[in-house]
Amino acid sequence: MTSNNDILFARAQKSTPGGVNSPVRAFRSVGGTPRFITRAEGPYFWDADDRRYIDYIGSWGPAIVGHAHPDVVKAVQDAAVRGLSFGAPTEGEIQMAELICQLVPSIEQVRLVSSGTEAAMSALRLARGATGRDKIIKFEGCYHGHADSLLVKAGSGLLTFGNPTSAGVPEDFAKHTLVLDYNNPQQLVDTFKEIGDQIACVIVEPVAGNMNLLPATPEFLQTMRRVCTQYGAVLIFDEVMSGFRVALGGAQSIYDIQPDLTVLGKVIGGGLPVAAFGGHPDLMQHLAPLGGVYQAGTLSGNPVTVAAGLATLKLIQAPGFYTSLTAQTTKLVTGFTEAARAANIAFSANSVGGMFGIYFAAEKPLSYTEMMKCDTAKFNTFFHAMLDADVYLAPSAFEAGFVSAQHSDDVINATIAAATAAFAKL
Ligand code: PMP
Repeated sequence: MTSNNDILFARAQKSTPGGVNSPVRAFRSVGGTPRFITRAEGPYFWDADDRRYIDYIGSWGPAIVGHAHPDVVKAVQDAAVRGLSFGAPTEGEIQMAELICQLVPSIEQVRLVSSGTEAAMSALRLARGATGRDKIIKFEGCYHGHADSLLVKAGSGLLTFGNPTSAGVPEDFAKHTLVLDYNNPQQLVDTFKEIGDQIACVIVEPVAGNMNLLPATPEFLQTMRRVCTQYGAVLIFDEVMSGFRVALGGAQSIYDIQPDLTVLGKVIGGGLPVAAFGGHPDLMQHLAPLGGVYQAGTLSGNPVTVAAGLATLKLIQAPGFYTSLTAQTTKLVTGFTEAARAANIAFSANSVGGMFGIYFAAEKPLSYTEMMKCDTAKFNTFFHAMLDADVYLAPSAFEAGFVSAQHSDDVINATIAAATAAFAKL
Protein backbone atom coordinates (compact mmCIF):
# COMPACT_ATOMS: atom_id res chain seq x y z
CA MET A 1 0.00 0.00 0.00
CA THR A 2 1.35 3.44 -0.85
CA SER A 3 2.13 5.54 2.17
CA ASN A 4 0.58 8.99 2.51
CA ASN A 5 4.13 10.20 3.12
CA ASP A 6 5.10 9.06 -0.41
CA ILE A 7 2.07 10.81 -1.88
CA LEU A 8 2.83 14.03 -0.01
CA PHE A 9 6.53 13.89 -0.90
CA ALA A 10 5.76 13.50 -4.61
CA ARG A 11 3.29 16.38 -4.39
CA ALA A 12 5.66 18.60 -2.38
CA GLN A 13 8.41 18.22 -4.96
CA LYS A 14 6.24 19.87 -7.59
CA SER A 15 5.77 23.12 -5.68
CA THR A 16 8.86 23.23 -3.44
CA PRO A 17 12.50 22.57 -4.45
CA GLY A 18 13.34 19.07 -3.23
CA GLY A 19 9.97 18.95 -1.50
CA VAL A 20 11.26 20.54 1.71
CA ASN A 21 11.91 23.96 3.19
CA SER A 22 15.26 23.04 4.75
CA PRO A 23 17.58 20.55 2.98
CA VAL A 24 18.34 17.89 5.60
CA ARG A 25 14.63 17.12 5.99
CA ALA A 26 14.64 15.58 2.50
CA PHE A 27 16.48 12.37 3.57
CA ARG A 28 19.00 12.86 0.75
CA SER A 29 21.90 11.30 2.65
CA VAL A 30 19.97 8.39 4.18
CA GLY A 31 17.63 7.77 1.24
CA GLY A 32 13.91 7.03 1.41
CA THR A 33 10.88 9.19 2.04
CA PRO A 34 10.73 11.82 4.76
CA ARG A 35 7.77 11.51 7.07
CA PHE A 36 5.24 14.32 6.83
CA ILE A 37 4.30 15.20 10.38
CA THR A 38 0.72 15.89 11.35
CA ARG A 39 1.00 16.42 15.11
CA ALA A 40 3.34 16.05 18.05
CA GLU A 41 3.02 15.60 21.77
CA GLY A 42 5.64 15.07 24.49
CA PRO A 43 8.43 12.84 23.09
CA TYR A 44 6.38 11.69 20.08
CA PHE A 45 5.21 12.81 16.69
CA TRP A 46 2.87 11.24 14.17
CA ASP A 47 3.22 11.02 10.42
CA ALA A 48 0.70 11.24 7.59
CA ASP A 49 -0.16 7.54 8.04
CA ASP A 50 -0.91 8.28 11.70
CA ARG A 51 2.12 6.26 12.71
CA ARG A 52 3.74 7.34 15.98
CA TYR A 53 7.51 7.85 16.35
CA ILE A 54 9.76 8.55 19.30
CA ASP A 55 11.32 11.82 18.20
CA TYR A 56 15.02 12.58 18.71
CA ILE A 57 15.08 15.64 16.44
CA GLY A 58 12.95 17.79 18.70
CA SER A 59 12.62 20.35 15.91
CA TRP A 60 16.47 20.31 15.83
CA GLY A 61 16.70 21.45 19.41
CA PRO A 62 13.83 23.75 20.41
CA ALA A 63 11.45 21.08 21.78
CA ILE A 64 13.34 20.71 25.08
CA VAL A 65 10.21 20.58 27.27
CA GLY A 66 8.57 18.09 24.88
CA HIS A 67 6.20 18.85 22.05
CA ALA A 68 3.06 20.90 22.62
CA HIS A 69 3.70 21.44 26.32
CA PRO A 70 0.40 22.73 27.76
CA ASP A 71 2.04 25.81 29.38
CA VAL A 72 3.68 26.85 26.11
CA VAL A 73 0.55 26.21 24.05
CA LYS A 74 -1.52 28.23 26.52
CA ALA A 75 0.95 31.14 26.45
CA VAL A 76 0.81 31.18 22.65
CA GLN A 77 -2.99 31.03 22.59
CA ASP A 78 -3.31 33.84 25.13
CA ALA A 79 -0.83 36.01 23.24
CA ALA A 80 -2.47 35.32 19.87
CA VAL A 81 -5.82 36.54 21.14
CA ARG A 82 -4.21 39.85 22.12
CA GLY A 83 -2.86 40.40 18.60
CA LEU A 84 -0.28 38.75 16.38
CA SER A 85 2.21 41.52 15.72
CA PHE A 86 2.39 45.23 16.43
CA GLY A 87 5.68 46.55 15.06
CA ALA A 88 5.95 48.53 18.28
CA PRO A 89 7.66 47.51 21.53
CA THR A 90 6.03 45.32 24.20
CA GLU A 91 6.76 44.50 27.83
CA GLY A 92 7.18 40.83 26.90
CA GLU A 93 10.34 41.73 24.98
CA ILE A 94 11.77 43.39 28.08
CA GLN A 95 10.94 40.31 30.16
CA MET A 96 12.62 38.08 27.59
CA ALA A 97 15.73 40.28 27.45
CA GLU A 98 15.92 40.48 31.25
CA LEU A 99 15.57 36.73 31.57
CA ILE A 100 18.28 36.00 29.00
CA CYS A 101 20.62 38.47 30.74
CA GLN A 102 19.90 36.85 34.09
CA LEU A 103 20.49 33.30 32.86
CA VAL A 104 23.57 34.02 30.72
CA PRO A 105 25.85 36.32 32.73
CA SER A 106 28.09 37.29 29.76
CA ILE A 107 25.02 38.90 28.18
CA GLU A 108 24.11 42.30 29.57
CA GLN A 109 22.17 43.51 26.56
CA VAL A 110 20.45 41.46 23.93
CA ARG A 111 18.60 41.97 20.69
CA LEU A 112 15.86 39.60 19.56
CA VAL A 113 15.62 38.40 15.97
CA SER A 114 13.74 35.61 14.19
CA SER A 115 16.33 32.97 13.22
CA GLY A 116 19.75 31.71 14.19
CA THR A 117 21.01 32.70 10.75
CA GLU A 118 19.91 36.26 11.31
CA ALA A 119 21.41 36.35 14.79
CA ALA A 120 24.82 35.02 13.68
CA MET A 121 24.88 37.32 10.64
CA SER A 122 24.07 40.31 12.83
CA ALA A 123 26.69 39.35 15.43
CA LEU A 124 29.32 39.22 12.67
CA ARG A 125 28.33 42.62 11.35
CA LEU A 126 28.45 44.02 14.87
CA ALA A 127 31.93 42.56 15.46
CA ARG A 128 33.15 43.99 12.18
CA GLY A 129 31.52 47.36 12.80
CA ALA A 130 32.89 47.61 16.33
CA THR A 131 36.45 46.60 15.45
CA GLY A 132 36.66 48.23 12.02
CA ARG A 133 38.19 44.96 10.74
CA ASP A 134 36.88 42.66 7.98
CA LYS A 135 38.45 39.28 8.55
CA ILE A 136 36.76 36.56 10.55
CA ILE A 137 37.76 33.12 11.78
CA LYS A 138 35.43 30.14 11.82
CA PHE A 139 36.11 26.43 12.22
CA GLU A 140 35.57 23.63 9.76
CA GLY A 141 32.43 21.65 10.55
CA CYS A 142 30.77 24.43 12.56
CA TYR A 143 27.53 25.81 11.13
CA HIS A 144 26.32 29.28 11.96
CA GLY A 145 23.40 29.66 9.58
CA HIS A 146 23.61 30.56 5.93
CA ALA A 147 24.92 34.12 5.83
CA ASP A 148 27.35 34.56 2.93
CA SER A 149 30.51 35.03 5.03
CA LEU A 150 29.79 31.80 6.89
CA LEU A 151 29.21 29.45 3.96
CA VAL A 152 32.91 29.00 3.50
CA LYS A 153 35.17 25.98 3.66
CA ALA A 154 38.85 25.85 4.43
CA GLY A 155 41.28 27.02 1.80
CA SER A 156 44.27 24.79 1.17
CA GLY A 157 46.89 25.45 3.80
CA LEU A 158 47.10 27.62 6.85
CA LEU A 159 46.48 31.33 6.26
CA THR A 160 44.70 30.68 2.99
CA PHE A 161 41.35 32.36 3.08
CA GLY A 162 38.32 30.28 2.30
CA ASN A 163 36.37 29.14 -0.72
CA PRO A 164 32.58 29.39 -0.92
CA THR A 165 30.74 26.16 -0.06
CA SER A 166 27.62 27.41 -1.77
CA ALA A 167 27.01 28.66 -5.26
CA GLY A 168 25.99 32.30 -5.10
CA VAL A 169 28.54 33.33 -2.49
CA PRO A 170 31.03 35.73 -4.09
CA GLU A 171 34.73 34.88 -3.70
CA ASP A 172 35.06 38.46 -2.53
CA PHE A 173 33.06 37.61 0.59
CA ALA A 174 34.67 34.23 1.22
CA LYS A 175 38.12 35.75 1.03
CA HIS A 176 37.57 37.48 4.37
CA THR A 177 36.77 34.21 6.13
CA LEU A 178 39.58 32.08 7.46
CA VAL A 179 38.57 28.50 8.24
CA LEU A 180 40.65 26.71 10.87
CA ASP A 181 40.58 23.26 12.51
CA TYR A 182 38.25 22.73 15.44
CA ASN A 183 40.07 21.70 18.62
CA ASN A 184 43.46 22.85 17.32
CA PRO A 185 44.62 25.61 19.70
CA GLN A 186 48.14 25.79 18.31
CA GLN A 187 46.90 26.61 14.82
CA LEU A 188 44.76 29.40 16.28
CA VAL A 189 47.74 30.86 18.16
CA ASP A 190 49.92 30.69 15.05
CA THR A 191 47.25 32.42 12.99
CA PHE A 192 46.81 35.24 15.48
CA LYS A 193 50.59 35.71 15.65
CA GLU A 194 50.56 36.23 11.90
CA ILE A 195 47.46 38.37 11.31
CA GLY A 196 45.82 38.89 14.73
CA ASP A 197 45.46 42.65 14.26
CA GLN A 198 43.26 42.10 11.17
CA ILE A 199 40.77 39.71 12.80
CA ALA A 200 37.35 41.15 13.68
CA CYS A 201 36.06 38.05 15.39
CA VAL A 202 36.28 34.34 16.03
CA ILE A 203 32.95 32.51 15.87
CA VAL A 204 32.64 29.02 17.30
CA GLU A 205 30.11 26.44 18.44
CA PRO A 206 31.55 25.69 21.91
CA VAL A 207 29.79 22.34 21.76
CA ALA A 208 29.59 21.66 18.05
CA GLY A 209 26.37 20.00 16.94
CA ASN A 210 26.50 20.41 13.18
CA MET A 211 29.18 17.81 12.44
CA ASN A 212 27.45 15.33 14.74
CA LEU A 213 28.25 16.13 18.40
CA LEU A 214 31.80 17.33 19.02
CA PRO A 215 32.50 19.18 22.27
CA ALA A 216 35.41 21.60 22.26
CA THR A 217 38.34 20.81 24.53
CA PRO A 218 38.66 23.31 27.39
CA GLU A 219 42.16 24.20 26.14
CA PHE A 220 40.81 25.12 22.71
CA LEU A 221 38.23 27.55 24.11
CA GLN A 222 40.59 28.95 26.75
CA THR A 223 43.21 29.65 24.09
CA MET A 224 40.56 31.30 21.93
CA ARG A 225 39.50 33.55 24.80
CA ARG A 226 43.11 34.50 25.50
CA VAL A 227 44.13 35.37 21.94
CA CYS A 228 40.92 37.28 21.22
CA THR A 229 41.52 39.46 24.28
CA GLN A 230 45.18 39.90 23.41
CA TYR A 231 44.52 40.99 19.82
CA GLY A 232 41.27 42.91 20.37
CA ALA A 233 39.12 40.45 18.39
CA VAL A 234 35.53 39.74 19.39
CA LEU A 235 34.90 36.21 20.64
CA ILE A 236 31.47 34.99 19.51
CA PHE A 237 30.01 31.82 20.98
CA ASP A 238 27.31 30.50 18.71
CA GLU A 239 25.04 28.85 21.25
CA VAL A 240 22.02 28.60 18.97
CA MET A 241 22.11 24.86 19.59
CA SER A 242 23.98 24.53 22.89
CA GLY A 243 22.27 27.46 24.63
CA PHE A 244 19.76 26.26 27.26
CA ARG A 245 20.37 22.77 25.85
CA VAL A 246 23.62 21.59 27.43
CA ALA A 247 23.01 23.52 30.68
CA LEU A 248 20.83 26.38 31.89
CA GLY A 249 23.69 28.83 31.33
CA GLY A 250 24.73 27.25 28.02
CA ALA A 251 28.13 25.81 27.13
CA GLN A 252 29.84 28.94 28.45
CA SER A 253 28.69 28.02 31.96
CA ILE A 254 30.14 24.52 31.63
CA TYR A 255 33.51 25.74 30.34
CA ASP A 256 33.43 28.84 32.56
CA ILE A 257 34.42 31.13 29.70
CA GLN A 258 32.77 34.45 28.92
CA PRO A 259 32.53 35.26 25.23
CA ASP A 260 32.10 38.87 24.09
CA LEU A 261 28.97 38.04 22.12
CA THR A 262 26.62 35.08 22.32
CA VAL A 263 24.24 33.94 19.61
CA LEU A 264 21.08 32.15 20.74
CA GLY A 265 18.10 30.55 19.03
CA LYS A 266 16.11 27.30 19.09
CA VAL A 267 15.19 26.76 22.81
CA ILE A 268 14.56 30.46 23.46
CA GLY A 269 11.64 30.33 21.04
CA GLY A 270 10.25 27.05 22.34
CA GLY A 271 9.40 26.02 18.76
CA LEU A 272 8.48 29.42 17.36
CA PRO A 273 10.93 31.64 15.46
CA VAL A 274 12.98 33.52 18.07
CA ALA A 275 16.72 33.99 18.14
CA ALA A 276 18.97 36.55 19.78
CA PHE A 277 22.45 37.92 20.06
CA GLY A 278 23.86 39.77 23.00
CA GLY A 279 26.87 40.69 25.07
CA HIS A 280 28.53 43.60 26.77
CA PRO A 281 26.88 47.03 26.35
CA ASP A 282 30.16 48.48 25.02
CA LEU A 283 29.67 46.27 21.98
CA MET A 284 25.88 46.31 21.79
CA GLN A 285 25.84 50.14 21.79
CA HIS A 286 27.23 50.00 18.25
CA LEU A 287 23.82 48.81 17.02
CA ALA A 288 21.25 51.12 15.45
CA PRO A 289 19.52 53.25 16.68
CA LEU A 290 22.44 54.08 19.04
CA GLY A 291 25.34 53.27 16.77
CA GLY A 292 26.32 52.85 13.17
CA VAL A 293 25.78 49.08 12.76
CA TYR A 294 22.42 48.56 11.11
CA GLN A 295 20.14 45.70 12.11
CA ALA A 296 16.33 45.48 12.11
CA GLY A 297 13.33 43.15 11.70
CA THR A 298 9.58 43.50 11.04
CA LEU A 299 8.79 40.50 13.24
CA SER A 300 11.68 40.85 15.72
CA GLY A 301 10.38 40.44 19.28
CA ASN A 302 7.02 39.27 17.98
CA PRO A 303 4.53 39.03 20.88
CA VAL A 304 3.39 35.46 20.12
CA THR A 305 6.85 33.99 19.61
CA VAL A 306 8.18 35.79 22.68
CA ALA A 307 5.29 34.35 24.72
CA ALA A 308 6.33 30.83 23.62
CA GLY A 309 9.92 31.62 24.54
CA LEU A 310 9.09 33.02 27.95
CA ALA A 311 6.91 30.02 28.81
CA THR A 312 9.72 27.65 27.76
CA LEU A 313 12.41 29.55 29.66
CA LYS A 314 10.19 29.39 32.75
CA LEU A 315 9.85 25.61 32.51
CA ILE A 316 13.56 24.93 32.08
CA GLN A 317 14.34 26.82 35.31
CA ALA A 318 12.50 24.19 37.38
CA PRO A 319 14.83 22.70 40.00
CA GLY A 320 16.55 19.57 38.71
CA PHE A 321 15.48 20.13 35.09
CA TYR A 322 18.99 19.78 33.63
CA THR A 323 20.06 17.07 36.08
CA SER A 324 17.20 14.94 34.89
CA LEU A 325 17.58 15.83 31.20
CA THR A 326 21.30 15.01 31.38
CA ALA A 327 20.61 11.72 33.20
CA GLN A 328 18.06 10.61 30.57
CA THR A 329 20.41 11.50 27.73
CA THR A 330 23.27 9.65 29.41
CA LYS A 331 21.01 6.63 29.87
CA LEU A 332 20.22 6.70 26.16
CA VAL A 333 23.82 6.86 24.93
CA THR A 334 24.96 4.26 27.47
CA GLY A 335 22.19 1.97 26.24
CA PHE A 336 23.20 2.52 22.60
CA THR A 337 26.85 1.84 23.41
CA GLU A 338 26.16 -1.36 25.34
CA ALA A 339 23.82 -2.66 22.63
CA ALA A 340 26.46 -2.00 19.96
CA ARG A 341 29.16 -3.70 22.02
CA ALA A 342 26.95 -6.78 22.45
CA ALA A 343 26.55 -6.90 18.66
CA ASN A 344 30.29 -6.34 18.14
CA ILE A 345 29.79 -3.13 16.14
CA ALA A 346 32.47 -0.42 16.05
CA PHE A 347 30.45 2.31 17.73
CA SER A 348 30.75 5.06 20.30
CA ALA A 349 28.48 7.78 21.62
CA ASN A 350 28.65 10.98 23.63
CA SER A 351 26.33 13.51 25.20
CA VAL A 352 26.38 16.93 26.83
CA GLY A 353 23.21 17.85 28.73
CA GLY A 354 20.27 17.10 26.44
CA MET A 355 22.32 16.79 23.25
CA PHE A 356 23.89 13.56 22.00
CA GLY A 357 26.00 12.10 19.22
CA ILE A 358 26.24 8.53 17.95
CA TYR A 359 29.32 7.55 15.96
CA PHE A 360 29.97 4.50 13.85
CA ALA A 361 33.60 4.57 14.93
CA ALA A 362 35.32 2.58 17.69
CA GLU A 363 36.46 5.76 19.51
CA LYS A 364 34.72 9.10 19.98
CA PRO A 365 35.97 11.45 17.26
CA LEU A 366 37.93 14.44 18.60
CA SER A 367 38.27 16.47 15.41
CA TYR A 368 36.41 17.19 12.18
CA THR A 369 38.78 14.90 10.27
CA GLU A 370 38.12 12.02 12.65
CA MET A 371 34.39 12.70 12.49
CA MET A 372 34.41 12.43 8.70
CA LYS A 373 35.86 8.92 9.01
CA CYS A 374 32.69 7.57 10.70
CA ASP A 375 30.98 4.81 8.74
CA THR A 376 28.05 6.58 7.04
CA ALA A 377 26.80 3.43 5.28
CA LYS A 378 26.38 1.73 8.67
CA PHE A 379 24.67 4.82 10.05
CA ASN A 380 22.21 4.86 7.15
CA THR A 381 21.29 1.20 7.68
CA PHE A 382 20.92 1.82 11.41
CA PHE A 383 18.82 4.94 10.80
CA HIS A 384 16.33 3.03 8.64
CA ALA A 385 16.17 0.07 11.04
CA MET A 386 15.33 2.53 13.83
CA LEU A 387 12.76 4.32 11.67
CA ASP A 388 11.13 0.97 10.89
CA ALA A 389 10.96 0.47 14.66
CA ASP A 390 9.25 3.87 15.07
CA VAL A 391 12.27 5.80 16.34
CA TYR A 392 13.06 8.98 14.41
CA LEU A 393 16.75 9.92 14.55
CA ALA A 394 18.24 12.84 12.64
CA PRO A 395 18.42 11.74 8.97
CA SER A 396 22.17 12.29 8.65
CA ALA A 397 25.30 10.80 10.20
CA PHE A 398 26.56 14.31 10.90
CA GLU A 399 23.79 15.79 13.01
CA ALA A 400 23.41 15.77 16.79
CA GLY A 401 20.35 14.29 18.48
CA PHE A 402 18.09 15.90 21.07
CA VAL A 403 16.33 14.53 24.13
CA SER A 404 13.41 16.32 25.81
CA ALA A 405 12.21 16.41 29.40
CA GLN A 406 9.36 14.13 28.26
CA HIS A 407 11.69 11.28 27.25
CA SER A 408 10.82 9.10 30.23
CA ASP A 409 12.50 5.84 31.24
CA ASP A 410 9.90 3.91 29.23
CA VAL A 411 10.65 5.94 26.11
CA ILE A 412 14.41 5.56 26.52
CA ASN A 413 14.09 1.81 27.19
CA ALA A 414 11.91 1.36 24.10
CA THR A 415 14.56 3.20 22.07
CA ILE A 416 17.36 1.00 23.41
CA ALA A 417 15.33 -2.13 22.64
CA ALA A 418 14.89 -0.87 19.07
CA ALA A 419 18.63 -0.12 18.84
CA THR A 420 19.51 -3.60 20.11
CA ALA A 421 17.49 -5.13 17.28
CA ALA A 422 18.88 -2.62 14.76
CA PHE A 423 22.52 -3.32 15.66
CA ALA A 424 21.87 -7.04 15.32
CA LYS A 425 20.92 -6.41 11.67
CA LEU A 426 24.14 -4.55 10.80
N1 PMP B 1 23.99 28.30 14.55
C1 PMP B 1 23.92 27.03 14.95
C2 PMP B 1 24.94 26.51 15.91
C3 PMP B 1 22.90 26.20 14.47
O1 PMP B 1 22.86 24.93 14.89
C4 PMP B 1 21.96 26.73 13.57
C5 PMP B 1 20.82 25.89 13.01
N2 PMP B 1 20.88 24.56 13.16
C6 PMP B 1 22.08 28.07 13.19
C7 PMP B 1 23.10 28.82 13.70
C8 PMP B 1 21.08 28.67 12.25
O2 PMP B 1 19.87 28.82 12.85
P1 PMP B 1 18.52 28.91 11.98
O3 PMP B 1 18.33 27.58 11.34
O4 PMP B 1 17.47 29.25 12.99
O5 PMP B 1 18.72 30.00 10.99
